[in-house]
Amino acid sequence: MTLPRLYLRLLLAVTLPLILVTSTLLPVLHMHMETRLNGIQAEAKAVLRVGEDALVRDINETLNYALAISEMPTLQQQLSSQPPSIDHLLSHRDPSQLATFLSTLISHSPRYSKLVLIDNQGNEVLRAPQGAKTDPRFGYHNHAHTDYFKGANELFQRDIYISPPGRNLQYELLSGEMIPVVNVATPIFDAAGERQGVVLLSLNWQHLTRSLYQSMQIDPKASVLLADAQGRWLLTQDTQQFPHISFGDNFASAAGESWPLIRRQDEGYVTFDNHLLGFQTEDIRTQRYSGLAGRIFSDSDNLPWVLGVSLPTPSWKSLFKQETTVLWFLGLIYATAVAFGVYWAFSSHQQRKLRNNTQRQAAEVRDLYENAPCGYHSLNEDCIVIKMNQTELNWLGYSANDVIDRLHYREVISPDTRDAFDTAFANVKNGKQDEAECTLTTRDGGCRHVVIHASGYRHKGRFIHSRATVFDLTERKQLEEKLRAQAMTDPLTGVFNRRYLQAQAAIEMSRGLRHNTPLSLIAIDIDHFKLINDEYGHDAGDEVLKHFTHVMMGLLRQEDLLCRVGGEEFAILLPNTAIAQASQIAERIRATIENTHVPIEHEGGKQTLHITASFGVTHISPQETTLKAALKRADTGLYEAKETGRNRIVIKEN
Ligand code: GH3
Ligand code: MG
Ligand code: MG
Repeated sequence: MTLPRLYLRLLLAVTLPLILVTSTLLPVLHMHMETRLNGIQAEAKAVLRVGEDALVRDINETLNYALAISEMPTLQQQLSSQPPSIDHLLSHRDPSQLATFLSTLISHSPRYSKLVLIDNQGNEVLRAPQGAKTDPRFGYHNHAHTDYFKGANELFQRDIYISPPGRNLQYELLSGEMIPVVNVATPIFDAAGERQGVVLLSLNWQHLTRSLYQSMQIDPKASVLLADAQGRWLLTQDTQQFPHISFGDNFASAAGESWPLIRRQDEGYVTFDNHLLGFQTEDIRTQRYSGLAGRIFSDSDNLPWVLGVSLPTPSWKSLFKQETTVLWFLGLIYATAVAFGVYWAFSSHQQRKLRNNTQRQAAEVRDLYENAPCGYHSLNEDCIVIKMNQTELNWLGYSANDVIDRLHYREVISPDTRDAFDTAFANVKNGKQDEAECTLTTRDGGCRHVVIHASGYRHKGRFIHSRATVFDLTERKQLEEKLRAQAMTDPLTGVFNRRYLQAQAAIEMSRGLRHNTPLSLIAIDIDHFKLINDEYGHDAGDEVLKHFTHVMMGLLRQEDLLCRVGGEEFAILLPNTAIAQASQIAERIRATIENTHVPIEHEGGKQTLHITASFGVTHISPQETTLKAALKRADTGLYEAKETGRNRIVIKEN
């Protein structure tokens, strides 16, 4: 019973501190986590700002470049000669000079893969490829059906068409590598405002995104995101978080449920694969991007783009890894709390055991006190019971409620022993130990002989209460009485013995003297008793003795004293009886015995015997002080009776 309780307490001691410490520190750690998350948001915002600046700068430069080229007078003149043709270019102008110039321009700006001049019919007039040493005149193409030619050919001066990156997936071979390009085209007008053609700048998208990527890779754990409105991936570099997505792939499906959230807002944050993705939309048609340009056109379904950066969100593991002090502190608090809890569990378990032991011992002591074979009680100075054990209560027949603080103990002491009690109690009050033999009167009117041993409890010299042990003397008294009776009685017949006769005779003789009343004595002896023993056995003899006694008792008065003074010899002391009366009584006994059939068992059968007895009768005179002489006279009478034939009475006068 106590062991499971200990386990339960130990479990409590371990779990309760855990719950308390955790519930106390959790909000603090949560706040810590929030702060870190806010920090990451701020970092993402800053990185986004850098990325946006890089994107704006690079795209604006491209646009301005395209505008600047389209407004070059030489170029306008070149295109204004109608109809523009290779022959015309070769014969009338010196195109090599312009081509060389444009090639130089392009080669100094690695952002572009090529620059192409296109006339109003879509014919390629001049091409300046990046890094190519070939003669630009031989790169003749017709661009009439391309999106950028069709787009730019309808625009006004300073308007720009940008072919959507990723949409048409235009690739070019540059320095032996296939690179995606974004075509930027703007119309060329002459001084008179006549449309002369289109200038096409192919933007090396890999170059642009790499510089964007590098500018945003401030944090090595950061992953950059650039996707168009359709969710096509616009970066050409591998990113840490999205290593399997490459340029043109569908990021929207990889982003799953996060993508619609991203698309709905201009900027914000989403949690994505244990990362915080900060994002904002970039629309190149806005003023921020147009720079010196008029309006920017593109296929609007791919705009705005989404520029984003994702950073790993702080995990509890990383928090604890970094905040080792917090961990130590937590551990310390927890360990201390558990140590206290375990100490509490064991100490309370120990205390409980001790308490149980003490209670058991107290119960044993109480049981010993209550059910001891003797009585215990305590009395205050007014003799009122303040404590009494069950044994004494049982003796007296009271309940505790009847006596405690109510019963005056003197009331249960019988009047004849009250003095002894008072004396002993007075001594106890005076600081002595004392005892008194008293008789207690029980509730039902009975009495109980007891001896009370008492001492006093004193405090600062003052009597507080008595402490008494009460031993029951009833049994002892009865035993004494029994022993005394046994000492006076003949065990076989139950009548008194010679000793008692002598003791009682002295009393009766002095009483007779006092009251002047006569006193007589009869001596009796059964005739031929030896023959009975010899013939029928000793047991039969005993039966005869008992029957003989019984018959005599029936013939005597209450005050007559029948005693067995020898084997088959009896004496009867007859107070207040004259000798004549005594001889009458003797005669009555003799006659009755003579006619009595004494039943005995012999050889397994029942028989009856006839017996007779002889009697000597005498009178005890007032002058006699001992029984001796009277006994002798009665014996003499008895002897004469035997001598003269037995079964008779002989009177011997004093
Ligand atoms: P009488 O008196 O008539 O002369 O003859 P008696 O046979 O009675 O005389 P005696 O005194 O010689 O015998 C007494 C016998 O009583 C002897 C003894 O064995 C017997 N006796 C004495 N005490 C007891 C006893 O307690 N029980 C029995 N059964 N016999 C006893
Ligand atoms: Mg005899
Ligand atoms: Mg005899």
